[in-house]
Amino acid sequence: MLETARILEIAQQQSRESRLLAMVNERLHKSLDRRELLEGIVEGVRAAFLADRCVVYERGAAGKRAVVIAEASTGVGLPETIPLDGDLRKVFGGLTLRREHLPERAAPYGQGARSAIAMPFIVDGRVEDAMVLSFNDARSLEDSDVGALRVLAFHVGLALSNTRLYERERERRRQAESLERVVRILRDTQYVDEVLLVFAVTVSHELGVDCAAYSIEGERLERRAVRLRESTAFVPEDSIGRPTLDPFLSLEEPSDAETLPPRPRHGLFGEAGGVLVPLRIEGRLWGAFVVRAESGLAEWAPEDRTTFFRTLGSHLEIALTNAHAYERELRRAQERETLAEAARTILSHTALQPLADVMCRFAASLVHAERTCVLRWTGNAYERVGSYGEGIEETLAASGFDTTRRAQRPSPATSADERRVQRLIDGPGYVVIPLSRTASDLSGDTIDAFLIVGSLKPVRFARDDLRLLQELGALLALALRNLDLYEAMQRANRALSESNEFKDDLLAMLAHDFKGPLTVILGYCELLLEASETSDEVTRIFEQTNRLVRLSEDALILAQTQSEGFSLAREVIDFGAFVERCVHAVSRNSARVTIVMPEQPVMVECDANRFRHVIDNVVQNALKYSEGDVKVSVFADGDRACMEVEDRGIGIPQDELPTLFTRFGRASNARRRGIAGSGVGLYISKKIVDAHRGTVNVRSIEHEGSAFTVTLPLTKAEA
Ligand code: ADP
Repeated sequence: MLETARILEIAQQQSRESRLLAMVNERLHKSLDRRELLEGIVEGVRAAFLADRCVVYERGAAGKRAVVIAEASTGVGLPETIPLDGDLRKVFGGLTLRREHLPERAAPYGQGARSAIAMPFIVDGRVEDAMVLSFNDARSLEDSDVGALRVLAFHVGLALSNTRLYERERERRRQAESLERVVRILRDTQYVDEVLLVFAVTVSHELGVDCAAYSIEGERLERRAVRLRESTAFVPEDSIGRPTLDPFLSLEEPSDAETLPPRPRHGLFGEAGGVLVPLRIEGRLWGAFVVRAESGLAEWAPEDRTTFFRTLGSHLEIALTNAHAYERELRRAQERETLAEAARTILSHTALQPLADVMCRFAASLVHAERTCVLRWTGNAYERVGSYGEGIEETLAASGFDTTRRAQRPSPATSADERRVQRLIDGPGYVVIPLSRTASDLSGDTIDAFLIVGSLKPVRFARDDLRLLQELGALLALALRNLDLYEAMQRANRALSESNEFKDDLLAMLAHDFKGPLTVILGYCELLLEASETSDEVTRIFEQTNRLVRLSEDALILAQTQSEGFSLAREVIDFGAFVERCVHAVSRNSARVTIVMPEQPVMVECDANRFRHVIDNVVQNALKYSEGDVKVSVFADGDRACMEVEDRGIGIPQDELPTLFTRFGRASNARRRGIAGSGVGLYISKKIVDAHRGTVNVRSIEHEGSAFTVTLPLTKAEA
């Protein structure tokens, strides 16, 4: 009988256990949330053991309190949090506690409880949750009940580790998604500050934390971007000294707020927790970012947290590296443009002061300085020849720069780098660039000019800035040298044009004053020639005097064309008749000359006095450079009046034709034969013809003869 009862009891007990296990399993299937799971089983357990209360506690933050997270009760409930001490501490330490007789303090068991059993749910060797089953009567729990409860606790532990794995996996996925979103947003950023701000905003939003980014500026970390949650009153400090932080910045891993010493920790995190992640760019420490959260991101598994923030840091590093490269490229392009503009400006300036002023402005804008000046040695002091902004000389004087002493060029022994940017005043806030020696002074190893650049802030100029100033300095030095040369050239030009003027005046005076007496001689010669029978001597005197008159006329016109040019007194004339008159006069009705006149009168507008020279010259040349007949034809061709003078004389070598119309241009055959001539006749003729908008051309074959053609535009009516 007894055996049967025992078997029955065991069977009942086993069926209760399997029911309980089935319930745990079912719960687990329904939900993978830990709290839901625990809430689901308390009522089942309470009912199965006919207990008055079944409660699950969870270890609270800081481990000082336990929090009720699931409760099934037939009577009064428990307060939400209970101190984690006494029996409860033992249970969370891993013990199962059977309380047949409760002490007075029965908080974990509930009011009215007379007996109880408490057992931990062990997950991965650690207790986060514990269950207490309590009874209002002083019952003694059977061993079998305790056994069943142990089996139950074991299974709940397994179920909890499942949910934990699941939750962790879910959390990881969430983190990966957050990371992806941050990276995606960073991809659209260009500038360093934009990257930092977008990063802070996105991280704060994604993780529900405060986020600030810092960059290293000398001995300090300066805040560049920050994003705080609405609920946050704390603001991370905007400037933090490096010394205490450096050991953490040099780590590859993110550092937990708790590990930092109090000084930087408080400034960065206040009372909260979080992480500090160092940032490197191109292998060099660049700064750090800080993520701050009240819970200190406690719910994250430590290894997940490390991996996550390290990855986040690498993505930010990549974005920053790109932004840096982008900004550098942008700056280079701007610099190139500024330097090119400076070069263009140099070309457009011929005066020192405006040029120096403009270059000072360029220098200031290149390196974001407030004031610049150019000093130049004047023989006994350096004087300012151009400037931008105010007060740089005072700064210079205060720094001990002696403008009355001529500076020495650095010795060649100075290192290349030092020579590249010779800073005479090695103070923060300003830089002095010596400009290469100028053309006006080629003696000694001294420096003639300086470009001085000053900032109102006591910053040191960056290497890039110095390089740029050096390049601008080279341009400026070149400009100064050019200006020197330009001035020297101007002086030489002035001297030259003065002496030219004198020469022209002299020539004009001579030509003019020669003509008077010569005309008188000519007059007497003509009288003599008419009175007596022609004597050879008088004829020779007459011819040579005529030549002298022509020469003096040529000289006068030459002087006029060289200096101010000449004016024309135009009138409408019959070109044929005009040519005929000129030819008769110049050939003295020589039988060698035939004139072919046009059928209709050909009218032109011209300065007859001047144009006579052209006709005289061409006809005289034809007579001079030939011995046979000369044919002069006048005709109209299209809208032009033409005069052609042909001879069968010595001709002109083909390759010398273009030189005949230049000043003093003579053909080699004329020289060889010793035919007298000055080589200015055709040059002057061309000037006169050009002034009439006419043309003069020559066709010639050596030893056969030449043909000179002069054309003029017909009057409008005629054309
Ligand atoms: P000039 O006759 O006083 O030397 P021109 O200027 O009138 O100076 O002529 C320039 C040169 O052109 C002459 O020296 C001569 O060599 C050449 N020349 C001009 N006309 C003729 C011509 N009809 N036949 C050959 N050579 C000529």
